[in-house]
Amino acid sequence: MGLFSTKKKADDCDEATVECLTEKLTHLGEHKSFLIQAVKTLIVFLKEFSFDIKEIDSDKFKDRMDEFSEDVSKEEKVKRLQSVLERSKETIISFIESKKVYFKERESEYKTIIDLLSKGISALETGNMDFNRKVYDRSEKIGKITLLDDIKKIKEEIRSEVEHIQDAIRQKETADSKQLENLTKEVSALREDLMKARTDSLLDGLTGVYNRMAYESYMRKLMDANTVDGLGFSMLMIDIDNFKSINDTYGHQTGDRALVAMVQVCREHIRKDDFFARYGGEEFVVILPDTSLKNASKRATAICKSVESSRYKLDGDYEGKSLAFTVSVGVSVFRNGEKSGVTTERADKALYMAKHTGKNRVVTENELIK
Ligand code: GH3
Ligand code: MG
Ligand code: MG
Repeated sequence: MGLFSTKKKADDCDEATVECLTEKLTHLGEHKSFLIQAVKTLIVFLKEFSFDIKEIDSDKFKDRMDEFSEDVSKEEKVKRLQSVLERSKETIISFIESKKVYFKERESEYKTIIDLLSKGISALETGNMDFNRKVYDRSEKIGKITLLDDIKKIKEEIRSEVEHIQDAIRQKETADSKQLENLTKEVSALREDLMKARTDSLLDGLTGVYNRMAYESYMRKLMDANTVDGLGFSMLMIDIDNFKSINDTYGHQTGDRALVAMVQVCREHIRKDDFFARYGGEEFVVILPDTSLKNASKRATAICKSVESSRYKLDGDYEGKSLAFTVSVGVSVFRNGEKSGVTTERADKALYMAKHTGKNRVVTENELIK
């Protein structure tokens, strides 16, 4: 309210006077801080409504919103504020989209479960009603037998009715077990679908290796285990050299295929207990449990050499040509007591060094110290 009354006064005053300009400046200042406060409040609401959903990286979204809030308070220039807003707009829209997809998927899963349960219950009800009716009819007939005088006839009638009832029970048992069998089948199909959906959400859609989310969760588990049994691990950070120029020369699709091919080559050096994930873009991480830096470095060199000597046949416009590229690898080893982020940082630094000392090579954390 105060803001608007200031505005009116400032607009009404004589522009030529210093007092008037000062008043306008004060008003603009107040207006700006009001808008910034409003944006920050909206960001708080956005964070509140992002819930805690691991599958859509709610935590990451909240962090981005905190950065956005900080930038809004920090940036003085309108142009910069505009670009901050543009970037955040994209983040917010894409988060809302993934939230919609997430809830749609959950809704359809719940619907399937509810359909299945109602089907089961109504089948049971119908089965029971039929059965009850049959047994009731028979018991009515038994009631009438007592009206017969001939004991022999009574015995015969009772035997026949008992047989009918036994028949009805057998039929009911068969129907029930069929029903149960069908329901069990449907439930296990549903369970398999859910398991698959859970596994799919941990895999990278393009290359089939684990994604960043799976990597974070694997590291958390590995760190917990480390504190218990003290098993160490080594880490390889693999990054394709000059990948941008592959995209620029042959197109994004060829770039995608190069990523898939590179993963295939790496897989030849990945063992059952290793963990292989796409860290982001054209960067991959391999965790080698219970492996020394020296052995990890040997594996890295083998990967480096295999990628270097591989050729990938191109098609389409580039039919007949083949593509070759190389990777650089940074290697680190976990030191007891440190956070996993510190191990990653050393692998990253080693990778950076490999890039800056010619690429197509392996650098271990030992070389960082030198
Ligand atoms: P360096 O040797 O220093 O690693 O250079 P670089 O060109 O490999 O690295 P830079 O970070 O400059 O470029 C990486 C490129 O990878 C940019 C990005 O467009 C591309 N990229 C990231 N993810 C994908 C993807 O999924 N498919 C394709 N085709 N390209 C991708
Ligand atoms: Mg690269
Ligand atoms: Mg990279």
